[in-house]
Amino acid sequence: MVNWPTVNRPKDLGGLGVLDLDKFGRALRVRWMWLEWHAENKPWAGLEIPCTEMDRLLFNASTTITIGNGKKTRFWHHAWLDGEAPRNLAPHLFELVQRKHKTVAQELANNSWISALQYKITNATQLEEFVSLWIRIQGVALNSEIEDTITWKWTPDDIYSARSAYRAQFIGSFRNFNTELIWRARTENKCKVFAWILIQDKVLTADILVRRGWPHQASCALCNGPIDTGQHLCLLCPFAQAVWSQVLSWENWSLSQ
Ligand SMILES: [Zn+2]
Repeated sequence: MVNWPTVNRPKDLGGLGVLDLDKFGRALRVRWMWLEWHAENKPWAGLEIPCTEMDRLLFNASTTITIGNGKKTRFWHHAWLDGEAPRNLAPHLFELVQRKHKTVAQELANNSWISALQYKITNATQLEEFVSLWIRIQGVALNSEIEDTITWKWTPDDIYSARSAYRAQFIGSFRNFNTELIWRARTENKCKVFAWILIQDKVLTADILVRRGWPHQASCALCNGPIDTGQHLCLLCPFAQAVWSQVLSWENWSLSQ
């Protein structure tokens, strides 16, 4: 029995490609944030969109923002300051802020973001975050003639796609076998899935039953030889070898040793 997160992985990453609904839902919610940026004319523009903390982290990790006039970028939420969002750089300050959805242009005008924090900073952590944020912001210059731009990191055309937002959540996963040998084989799906389970050593042969403390036979039921393992069942057992040599003879193949 292969664990569910592995089953959910795309096939080329060693999974079965079963859709992970959590990740897919997140990919679709990230779309709202992408659309929010691009469609100010939509009736819901300016409303708070139903996104979780994780959704925002994914959005920020997936986009690059270049500041122009600062009118589109949300000061706290978007990753515009050295590729990071101020809410992540200064989480304790973010908690203090009442109006969290203002734009960079609004917050930088007359240092409005500083006034908003006035008399609220009470401890050293908040003060430290304030100073480091202040230093970073000193390097920012708005350019009133250019609009802010956003690009999507995971597609060649720099535009959001649900597919790429879904795939991006598997970054860091790797495969530990050659998946193409299985999925490109010309055979029935059930054989491919069996091979996929076998290669991960998850077929319920006797050696696996032993590990789980389940009832099992001490030797291979076919040849009465050693304990049954995936490798024995499919390759080493004399009965398996007889099947393979039959198959090879049909096709006039020989096995190079
Ligand atoms: Zn055997």
